[in-house]
This record gives sequence, C-alpha cells and structure tokens, in this order.
Amino acid sequence: EAPQSVALVLGVTGIVGNSLAQILPLSNTRGGPWKVYGVARRTQPSWNALNTVHYIQCDISDQNDAESKLSSLTDVTHVFYVCWARRPTEAQNCQVNGAMLRNVLRAVIPNAPNLRHVSLQTGTKHYLGPFELLGKIEVAHDPPFTEDLPRLDAPNFYYTQEDILFEEVRKKGLTLTWFVNRPHFIFGFSPYSLMNLVGTLCVYAAICKHEGVPLWFPGTKAVWECYNTASDADLIAEQHIWGAVDPRAKNEAFNCSNGDVFKWKHVWKVLAERFGIREYGFLEGEDLRLSEMMKEKGAEEIVKKNGLQRTKLEDVGDWWFADLILRMEAVLDSMNKAREHGFFGFRDSKKSFMNWIDKTKACKIVP
Ligand code: NAD
Repeated sequence: EAPQSVALVLGVTGIVGNSLAQILPLSNTRGGPWKVYGVARRTQPSWNALNTVHYIQCDISDQNDAESKLSSLTDVTHVFYVCWARRPTEAQNCQVNGAMLRNVLRAVIPNAPNLRHVSLQTGTKHYLGPFELLGKIEVAHDPPFTEDLPRLDAPNFYYTQEDILFEEVRKKGLTLTWFVNRPHFIFGFSPYSLMNLVGTLCVYAAICKHEGVPLWFPGTKAVWECYNTASDADLIAEQHIWGAVDPRAKNEAFNCSNGDVFKWKHVWKVLAERFGIREYGFLEGEDLRLSEMMKEKGAEEIVKKNGLQRTKLEDVGDWWFADLILRMEAVLDSMNKAREHGFFGFRDSKKSFMNWIDKTKACKIVP
C-alpha cells in the first residue's frame, strides 16, 4: 500500500518520539498508512529499532548536517518536532533550540512540495516560565492554565520556537498548517530523554532495592499530598496525530495532559510494589533531593546481576528534573480547549505510571 502520509519525526529516540515511532506505522492510525522518517543525534539504539522507521542520524543544531540529510526527503507531508537541547541559561536555550527548529524547517519546507503540516511540542513552561526563573517571575499565571493566557514577560525558548514556526510556515502560505502541543511532565519511555520522570524514579527504586533501604519520596510534603496531573507519552503522540488530521485542530495550540488528577502518595505504592520494596512513603522532617542522594551512586553491579542494557546512569537518571517536579505543587492545566475542538483522548494516570514502569523493565533498563 502506498503511503498516504509521510512523517518526519525530529527526536525519534526521545520520550514522545519513541511513542510516535511506535504508533504512526500502525495500520489503524488516523491519516495513514504512514511512512515514517525518524531523526536523532546518536546511532539508533536497540529499543528504538523495533519500530518501522527510516532512521536518520543527524545533528540538527548543525545547519550543514540538517541541510544535507533533510533536504533530500522530498516526500515528507508532516513534520513532528519533539526535540530539544538543554543549556545552562534560557538565553542559550533560546539560541540553540531556535536554531535547531529553524535548521529543520529551512531544510524541509522549500524541498518538500507536499508538506502540509508542522507539529511542535513545547510544554507547561509556556505558562510557568523557564526553569531558571521558576518561582521568581512576578506575574506568574494562576493554574489551571488555559491556552489563551498571555505570554510571560521573560525569555522562554518555547516562545522563540513558536515565533520561528509561525514565520517559516507563513512563508509557505495557506497550504501549510501548524500545531503546538503543550504537555505537562511526561510519563513515557526513553533512556535518551533529558526529562524522563518514570525512568528516573525506576532507577532510584532499583538502587533502593539493591541497597535494602526504604523508598522515600524525594520531594516536598505539599507535592506528596496535592493533586497533580501528568501527560502520557502515547496520549501526546495521539494528540499530535489528531492535530495532523483534524481540520478543527489546525493553527492552534493545545494543552495535553491525562485529563485526570492523581496524588503521589497514592501512586508511590505502585513504584514500591513493582520493585518489591516493603517500606516506602514520605519521611517527615527531611528534605530529600535525588541530585544529592544519587551523587556517588553507580549501577554496575545491578546491571551485571540482572543482565540489563548498558546505559549511563546520568542518561537514565535525570535527578535535577525529578528534584524540580517533585517540588512544584498544584500545577495543573486545562484540557477544555482540546475537548471543545474534538480531542477526547485521556489516560488513567496511575495506570499510565504503571505501564511505563513495566515498559522500562521490559526493555531491561531496570530490573
Ligand atoms: P527528549 O529529551 O525526550 O528527546 C530528545 C530527542 O531529541 C532525542 O531523540 C534526541 O536524540 C533528539 N535530539 C536532541 N538534540 C538533537 C540534535 N542536535 N540533533 C538531532 N536530534 C537531537 O524530548 P522531549 O522531552 O519529548 O522534549 C520535547 C519538548 O517537550 C521540549 O520542548 C520539552 O521541553 C517538552 N516537554 C517535555 C516534558 C518531559 O517531561 N519530558 C514535559 C513537558 C514538555
């Protein structure tokens, strides 16, 4: 069967890229059958190679590499940009992430005559401000966040990327549409992700189990107890695909979270049980941070004993990210706009958490 749609996924080994790579080629996926090109910086890892994707190793921060490897993909109809690079300051984030997106769009748009749609993934920091300013911005918005809130008066690489997206798409004219997806923190699978909360907590749990110590919640009491929301990586992929095929979704930005709320004090039990840890919970009077607790840790022995994939601890354990997320209380976003426009996808966050733990185990990243 000839493909009706040809996707180019930027960041195909990332936490959402990996889900897109799995879902797009399925025979019942909307807008299909899809042919899928997937771009990432490193060589294709085994856990990604299970997908039917034409893999392209390319450094999109390098204009020449992007031009030489992407301009020849003349059959692309849809771009899914699920990719970012992390730098020490937001000014640098704006610079490098802006350049990466621009390099891709300038290599693809003029050379792919059938290109119809570009989907960009940003996130809830659109409303919160960049990591370096969290809690420091004067007129921070009050959650639950809705898509119509004005931009904050602070540098944000999401704004830079949106502006580049609008500018490059406009050049092509009305035949090319755009979509922006704004997830909350993501429950998904990827040992190559810069921000993978489930993977990080799995590694923490595996180390606790190995050392025979309790699985204490490495966050604040307020976060342990408050309502929270998460975004399932497959759900995000589904929303990207909905955005690509449904006319009601075109040229709009949408939040993307599971549509329910959960509490860490309820789902923590799941993590403990999955790793066979009996003692777990919130430790009163302590301020536990994974970046401190995991400083001197190694996982050599755990990897050997259990025949796990050889990964780098600093790749699979994003301690800094968990320390941020588990200290940010009551950040919720609204899914009303997506529903009003016809996207009714949802996930049970507890099941989502469980499924991604199981996937991380099945791929032999943790025992
Ligand atoms: P990720 O960190 O999981 O994956 C990054 C992917 O990009 C990898 O495949 C990597 O190979 C690729 N990549 C990085 N630099 C590259 C380069 N120079 N050339 C080619 N490929 C490169 O990505 P993610 O977490 O899905 O992030 C996408 C967007 O989603 C970001 O804007 C991020 O801020 C946002 N977001 C993420 C989360 C989360 O919990 N992970 C939550 C909300 C928003």
